Amino acid sequence: MLSLRWTRLARYFRRSTVMMKVYIWCDMEGVAGVSIWNQVMPEHPLYQESRRLMTEEINAAAQGAFDAGATYVLVDDGHWFGHNLMPSMLDPRVECVMGYDRDFLMELDGSFDLLLGIGAHAKAGAVGANLGHTMDPDRWVELKVNGHSVGEIGLVGAVAGEHGVPFALITGDDKACAEAAALIPGVVQACVKKGIAAQCARSLAPTAARDCIRARAREACLAARSIAPLRLGGSPATVEVVMLAESGTPFKASSLDASTLALQKTVTTRATGQSVRQALREVLHAKSETT
Ligand SMILES: [Zn+2]
Repeated sequence: MLSLRWTRLARYFRRSTVMMKVYIWCDMEGVAGVSIWNQVMPEHPLYQESRRLMTEEINAAAQGAFDAGATYVLVDDGHWFGHNLMPSMLDPRVECVMGYDRDFLMELDGSFDLLLGIGAHAKAGAVGANLGHTMDPDRWVELKVNGHSVGEIGLVGAVAGEHGVPFALITGDDKACAEAAALIPGVVQACVKKGIAAQCARSLAPTAARDCIRARAREACLAARSIAPLRLGGSPATVEVVMLAESGTPFKASSLDASTLALQKTVTTRATGQSVRQALREVLHAKSETT
């Protein structure tokens, strides 16, 4: 009798325990205190400080998630080739995915309750965006997912959306926040800097930015159920990339205005797949098929 009662009690507590799994996708260009390309390039000495700044923003977001009751936080290092954050500085409660040869948002699946986007930047061509670009700042001028023009924010949102996971927080400059808000109604924003030009921003001090990110991450976790996962439609999914036929100039594709872009020779690569993630993989490995 006693054991039956305990079994029922255990079952009750198991059911009533709220699990909250949080996926953090991070980039570096939208981190407070970062404003020029040299700060995000691994071969440049300034990059080492950017790694620390990015890791501290991840920790702030994770802290906000734990404040809201998160039970598991996984961070996906999304800048450059995916090996940037400082593991020794990471909040000990957080696990991380970092390194080469992996799929986009590889560990994200439908078991996660929400996604937080940290250090994000606006897409190629966004006017006034600080370090705006789409994937390859030298060559990519346009990315379309199922016909919708998006940047990396939309791409992340679409992959998460396919798993039913809402993109709940955006941090970065005001242009990145506006881009996310236009795609994802209700997304919580932590605007840590104002984009002035491709390599100029007016930024919060990093410590102030972290306070903001922690508070907004908590808010995002609590609001996640009211934020719809981004659905860009399409089955099979189609991903299309327009890139400069040849760049020659570093970062040339990132901030071309429309009239200059119209004069450039471009190539287009397109792929379909069962998911956006799979179509993107195909595009990244395909040779340009259309000009
Ligand atoms: Zn990046």
